[in-house]
Amino acid sequence: MKIFVVKNAGFCFGVKRAINLAFEKAKKTGKRVYTFGPLIHNPQVVEELRREGVHPVQNLKKIKSGTLIIRSHGVHPRILLEAKKKGLKIIDATCPFVRRAQRNARVLHKEGYQVVVVGEAHHPEVQGIIGYADDQAKVINSNTRELDFLRGKRIGVIAQTTLNLDTFKQVTGKLLEKAREIKIFNTTCNATAIAQKATLEMTKDVDLMIVVGGKNSANTSRLAKLCREKGKTTYHIETASELKSKWFKGIRSVGVTGGTSTPNWIINQVVEKIRDLT
Ligand code: SF4
Repeated sequence: MKIFVVKNAGFCFGVKRAINLAFEKAKKTGKRVYTFGPLIHNPQVVEELRREGVHPVQNLKKIKSGTLIIRSHGVHPRILLEAKKKGLKIIDATCPFVRRAQRNARVLHKEGYQVVVVGEAHHPEVQGIIGYADDQAKVINSNTRELDFLRGKRIGVIAQTTLNLDTFKQVTGKLLEKAREIKIFNTTCNATAIAQKATLEMTKDVDLMIVVGGKNSANTSRLAKLCREKGKTTYHIETASELKSKWFKGIRSVGVTGGTSTPNWIINQVVEKIRDLT
């Protein structure tokens, strides 16, 4: 059986940067290092960081001193303010692409546009972006049917960075019909788009797709969804231990891909295990 790994599968630039900063800091400092929420949506990496002394916290009330790493998703400006007031040392690993979305939200809000973020309302990145529009931004996605509240308004649109470009085009098309004036910033991130495109290409050449990455990772789940939409049998796993030999019966070729928060060592382990099983 042939095994193909999608080129560009695994850590994107922004995640790599955040992880390196966290490990570097953990090594250098004798003090506690925290991240606001898990640094990335991958339980195995979060556990490895914990062993190195980097601890995720959901609430700053639990921290008295030390270093706070802001993850690649960014945070609501209120969190930064709170951390500063507490005297925490802040290492901001917000991905530059997310920062661009935050800046655009702020500019649009200041210019008087109703800011609309196309994405998932509960995603931490979106929650952070909303803060840059003074919590006045509305979040919609491709399933949002009721858009009449935007009729006749000046709308400023940005995207969650990991959003699929086609979905963004589709939603902005609908907004165009409602708005009096519309200003659009394409803040989708290339890394996700490249990984999605390469993964979709691979679905044409293989019998089965294995998508590797956190079940809590939006972009990994989206990769699995896209593969299934192409009619390809697809399994979304976090680690090699979830692979089952029966999946590969009668299969001649398998494609392996991973989300932008999936480390390459886990992808390699998956490839090795598929070899063992087949
Ligand atoms: S997916 Fe894109 S925006 Fe998100 S962290 Fe990676 S490089 Fe940055």
